[in-house]
Amino acid sequence: MECAREQLCGACSHYITRDLTFVGGVANLLHNTYTDPPMHIPCADAAIRLCPFLNHPRMRPRPAAADVMPADFRDLDRSRPLAVAVTGGYRVRLTAGPDGSLLEFLPEPWHALRLFTYIDTGLAPASAAAGGGAVAALIAQLKETYRD
Ligand SMILES: [Zn+2]
Repeated sequence: MECAREQLCGACSHYITRDLTFVGGVANLLHNTYTDPPMHIPCADAAIRLCPFLNHPRMRPRPAAADVMPADFRDLDRSRPLAVAVTGGYRVRLTAGPDGSLLEFLPEPWHALRLFTYIDTGLAPASAAAGGGAVAALIAQLKETYRD
């Protein structure tokens, strides 16, 4: 909660002044809702390079971790791209989950977006867009491909 209010990086805990970077799946991106806090761009890059949950095609959270996961936690859908998206700000809201309240981050419009796809050895860069118009076009393309 404190890191959400103070705009602190989810990885290194230092203040983020700009380029707040959210890492998530296509569902996060299309619903514009995240449960993990933003990171600095270099911290996000390190996370997707070093965190096995994010970069391994078959890694799953440890069973013990299920206890501490939000009730509505959904594993990353690795048949879809991983999205690394950059914004200038966000709002937070508390929503009611079955086991209490859940903090959600609602990013402002993106100014950069990179997509990575899962391959046998990890993540491979797929496409990238910079600037509001280009990012919106890429997201529109994702909506077409992954409409739920
Ligand atoms: Zn950081």
